Amino acid sequence: MKLADTPITQHDFDGVRFYLKRDDQLHSHFSGNKARKFMALLEQPLTHIDTLISYGSIQSNAMYSLSALAAIKGWKFEFYVDHIPQWLSDNPKGNFRATLDMGAEIKAVNEFQLHPRDYIEQIRQPNDHCLVVPEGGRFKHAEVGIKQLAREILSWTRYENCSEFAVALPAGTGTTALYLHKYLAPHGIEVVTCPCVGGAEYLKQQFADLGESSFPTILELPAKHHFGHLYKADYIMWLKLLKQTHVEFDLLYDPMMWQCLIPWHTENSHKTLIYVHQGGLLGNESMLPRYERKFGLTPLEES
Ligand SMILES: *Cc1c(COP(=O)(O)O)cnc(C)c1O
Repeated sequence: MKLADTPITQHDFDGVRFYLKRDDQLHSHFSGNKARKFMALLEQPLTHIDTLISYGSIQSNAMYSLSALAAIKGWKFEFYVDHIPQWLSDNPKGNFRATLDMGAEIKAVNEFQLHPRDYIEQIRQPNDHCLVVPEGGRFKHAEVGIKQLAREILSWTRYENCSEFAVALPAGTGTTALYLHKYLAPHGIEVVTCPCVGGAEYLKQQFADLGESSFPTILELPAKHHFGHLYKADYIMWLKLLKQTHVEFDLLYDPMMWQCLIPWHTENSHKTLIYVHQGGLLGNESMLPRYERKFGLTPLEES
């Protein structure tokens, strides 16, 4: 199975022309940046492994991608979370629903008063047949797949008649932005990102923890932005993107990046912008109804 070479499409948004690397189209179950981050695990035989183990949030895109990876590999998959809300287990949605459909076991550990990571280490005690993936795929194994993504972007730029390029993508753990920067900066391509989880200092710490010392450009919003909270500005940005580009973006990360990018672009309009679509659309299945309940279906007309 060869998962690579996603298309790059051209769009205009609020007067900004940009190119979109469609990693949302990598594979129907194994897509976006999580597929890039876990590509090394897909490609290695790892025949001694029979169980994949990870932890994190109940609606994480990483959880679903790992469940797809485990299904492809014929492994069992166990995912540990702090707790599972009653309303969600009564009516599974989004990544949670899709991960259960893949046959995964999702376990809450709050009654043990331990962080899921510590629960795995102290109580689950994985043996040699288990492969434990850290939260969000923040590990060095991610580098292989992201290097391939960088290679695809680079070979595309070779055929374009522009002198300067910038690659933009929002950061969670920052792993994708960091490794793209590592392989694109030597070719004079700037990587710009924004910290969706925690602030810029936290993101730099995450970069440093991966053992790198050269970092992508970090853009920030003037006001604090909390991960997973509902912001009208995010919802409006997402709706406008959909209306003008006919592409569905992710609701958790992309709206914040675009709010940072619009002012960035006025200062950097000489650069050709390449935006990386990192997938995560299954998460919209749970985020969108929350937004619609809070702000209505058509806040664009009201604003
Ligand atoms: C996981 C994810 C991110 C963040 O990726 P990191 O490598 O952790 O920075 C951004 N967008 C989407 C859609 C994701 O699923």
